[in-house]
Amino acid sequence: MDVHDKKTRSYNMSQIKGKNTKPEELVRKYLFSQGFRYRKNDKRLPGSPDIVLPKYKTVIFVNGCFWHGHEGCKHFVWPKSNEEFWKNKIETNIARDKKKTQVLEELGWNVIVVWECQLKRTNREVALNRILIEIKGD
Ligand SMILES: [Zn+2]
Repeated sequence: MDVHDKKTRSYNMSQIKGKNTKPEELVRKYLFSQGFRYRKNDKRLPGSPDIVLPKYKTVIFVNGCFWHGHEGCKHFVWPKSNEEFWKNKIETNIARDKKKTQVLEELGWNVIVVWECQLKRTNREVALNRILIEIKGD
């Protein structure tokens, strides 16, 4: 019955435990090494973005695929137990993400979303390069 392999399930579990904050650190370190200076988790802005680059009027959200319901992502599967609970929770998060992006854009911010799966070792470089390009607005 369970179509999801062990790896995906343990990936989900690691997200549920909420210990995995490493991806945003990775992006911050990279940007720092490229000479960017930023604010972290700025509460003055909608959704307190993970990374704020005032000079470029850009904010970056680093989203966990599970919590933020990454559509079409192989790492995102609906949990089999407490279905209703998770559906509610994740759909609320998705709606909130949509809203905060909209408000930020209305305020003139460039909003970049990076997904955790894009920061896996194998494809990290592509994702980080894309961020640079998007920051500079090319
Ligand atoms: Zn993903």
